[in-house]
Amino acid sequence: GQRVDFSDLFEGFFGGGGRRGQPREERGDDREISVTINFMESVSGVARELRIRKLGSCKTCSGSGAEPGAKLVTCEECGGTGQVVRQSQSFFGMLQQAVLCPKCRGSGKVPEKPCKTCSGEGRIAEDSNVSIDIPAGIADGQSLRIRGSGDAARQNGTSGDLYVRITVTPDKRFVRDGDDIRMEIVITVPDAILGTDISIETVLGPTTLKVPAGTQSGQVFRIKHKGMPVLNASRFGDHYVTVTVEIPAKLSREERKLVEEWKRLQQ
Ligand SMILES: [Zn+2]
Ligand SMILES: [Zn+2]
Repeated sequence: GQRVDFSDLFEGFFGGGGRRGQPREERGDDREISVTINFMESVSGVARELRIRKLGSCKTCSGSGAEPGAKLVTCEECGGTGQVVRQSQSFFGMLQQAVLCPKCRGSGKVPEKPCKTCSGEGRIAEDSNVSIDIPAGIADGQSLRIRGSGDAARQNGTSGDLYVRITVTPDKRFVRDGDDIRMEIVITVPDAILGTDISIETVLGPTTLKVPAGTQSGQVFRIKHKGMPVLNASRFGDHYVTVTVEIPAKLSREERKLVEEWKRLQQ
């Protein structure tokens, strides 16, 4: 029959997670949870207390899987290597495959007496609280990773990570564009011609936009550093205002007279 190198197959089967010839340490599963915040919370950042059901480390045995007082002994199934060799028939003949030991799940050790609380798993399903700080500037659809807050591994391995997927509900006043904010305002024809000061809202509070005399419809004004906080930086994006000049569809008799007079002056 054909013989295949033992460690190469092991790496091939398990994604190369372990060093050659050594049992691979178990890792708990990653968990994902969704959190919805409002737009202004994405500007200021917000702390949240999450309650999630996950596999936590067993408190009776401190995660070892052994009954308190019992020792960990070498696994008889694999002789402490954490791997067992399986033979299977293939097209090329008998094939030898290394697989994780089903009894010790790769650790090479088993408790002399398994913990009664967790049946020797070292972990148990529980509700747990996780405090997270959602940073200022987070965007809709981004995820935070909290290392070690996922499922506990079997028998004192490395815990998985918790991914917190953030949904940001939109705000009617502001449109986010990267680190910048965009908004539209409508001004009157006289204000566009003569210029005016307009009070507007930004994500960082109210400010005054100076609309200069002779402003055209569609013109864009930039207010520097009044946009979104840049994630993990002490900078801010900009706030852009697009101005639309509204042409009145109806005029009073007096207004009409003035416009006709103005037209006459231009001829
Ligand atoms: Zn236990
Ligand atoms: Zn074993």
